[in-house]
Amino acid sequence: RTTAPTSIVVFGGTGDLAKRKLFPAFFNLFIDEWMPVRFQIIALGRKQYSQEGFRAYVLENLKEFSRNNKFTEEQWLSFSEKITFLNFDITGENSFQNLNDKLTAFDVECNSRVNRLFYLSVAPNFIDSVSTSLKKAGMADEVEKDRIIIEKPFGYDKASAVALNELLNQNFKEEQIYRIDHYLGKETVQNILAFRFANTVFEPLWSNRHIESVQITVAEQVGVEDRGGYYDHSGALRDMIQNHLLQILCMVAMDAPVEFESSLIRDKKAEILKAVRRIKPEDINHYTVRAQYTDGEIKGNPKQGYKQEPGVDPNSSTETFVAMKFYIDNPRWQGVPFYMRTGKSMAQKKSCVIVNFKEVPNKTFANGTDSLRPNQLTINIQPEMDIRLSFMTKKPGLDMTLNPVEMVFDYFECAPDSPEAYETLLIDALDGDSTLFMRSDQVEEAWDIIATIQEEWKNGTYSPIYTYAAGSWGPEAANELLSRQGHRWLSAT
Ligand code: NAP
Repeated sequence: RTTAPTSIVVFGGTGDLAKRKLFPAFFNLFIDEWMPVRFQIIALGRKQYSQEGFRAYVLENLKEFSRNNKFTEEQWLSFSEKITFLNFDITGENSFQNLNDKLTAFDVECNSRVNRLFYLSVAPNFIDSVSTSLKKAGMADEVEKDRIIIEKPFGYDKASAVALNELLNQNFKEEQIYRIDHYLGKETVQNILAFRFANTVFEPLWSNRHIESVQITVAEQVGVEDRGGYYDHSGALRDMIQNHLLQILCMVAMDAPVEFESSLIRDKKAEILKAVRRIKPEDINHYTVRAQYTDGEIKGNPKQGYKQEPGVDPNSSTETFVAMKFYIDNPRWQGVPFYMRTGKSMAQKKSCVIVNFKEVPNKTFANGTDSLRPNQLTINIQPEMDIRLSFMTKKPGLDMTLNPVEMVFDYFECAPDSPEAYETLLIDALDGDSTLFMRSDQVEEAWDIIATIQEEWKNGTYSPIYTYAAGSWGPEAANELLSRQGHRWLSAT
């Protein structure tokens, strides 16, 4: 349990993220007894709610979105009394004074200046005014006690991310800033480090000596839904590759830190991002594929094409699918392709990492079987949550026939009700543990990696925009990206 009394302030407390993720996460932490004994949550928004009205709204959302929806009335009542709604306009003159009064009142009640966690769950254009106002009012001045969580997107390109970091660093110390990437809170993603660094058998194989290629897939079955207006200014490269997929890449490729300590882990991740080879503009077509979904079918239902989605420009050139190949120029990974793909309206919801090992060097079984397969390690992140290692065995019988089999570790079997990513990240932020959050240099490096691609795609000199039918695995060009090197997508085609 986190012990320090804390005031939690949710800017955007009436928004979608607060409704679906933040309040359910705080509530589950509360009933699992992870929250501090003394805490308050102040939810801010311009919508008009009475205190009772806001609590009723939170209760409705918990019933719909909380992983634990069989809670008792008593549990709800003791949680609900921690919530205060404050009608609040970020641009309003007295807003921050009113907030300050509420924070001070809780300090008085607790007889000490308690910790403060400010969650900025608002559009990025508000980060400037919120952080400047917090600074001006001196509300987040205690470096050891006060933390600020920033949601994605963190910038729009490298220059805007650098500017945002500078702005935040003017108002807060780096150790107070928690840039969230919810993928890092997922059990299965965190487990990559345990799997790699707490076992003797895998790490010695974890390099170009034994690994042929690595694939990272984050496929979504949903389209842009009602977020077309936002998405059309973003696209898959910014919305997914720059953050989630590159963060997963770091977990898979980083060297072992000397200790499991925040700054050491983040140093190792930053090293990997620095070592990712930057793609030259004239090579972009060789390394990347971008595409948009057209009319198709998902789960038996017709799905309209991206350009017909509400809020999307009918002439849009925003990509809803990206496939790409990266190289990491360090001794461990020299020459190993890291393939990534992500898209919307795809055949399945599936996030996974597949490590494809090299073929056995000897020819012992070269004759008499065509079923010899290189070993494959699959780390399923969602919706399946498991690790699968494929290896060859002799098929039972009189002749020497080989057969691939799998060893499986399934998360659902051992922890069917494991915490959600936001729960993990919120408890870490409450505890002041920034290991799973992104440091400024990591964010800037990740933008740097995609900078030439962003620029080239804007100009469109070398890169066509392919199309794929909604409900498929993307355009044929994404398969060709791999087949040129004798590889193929292994999770599904
Ligand atoms: P949203 O549903 O549009 O909510 C925006 C929130 O901002 C509302 O609570 C709104 O309050 C508040 N707001 C807007 N203008 C304000 C003002 N002048 N003063 C005070 N409050 C104001 O957005 P969201 O989906 O929750 O997203 C919030 C942040 O999380 C964004 O940065 C988004 O990119 C990020 N994010 C969201 C998701 C998600 O699943 N939703 C996922 C990843 C990242 P009122 O309406 O009451 O004014």
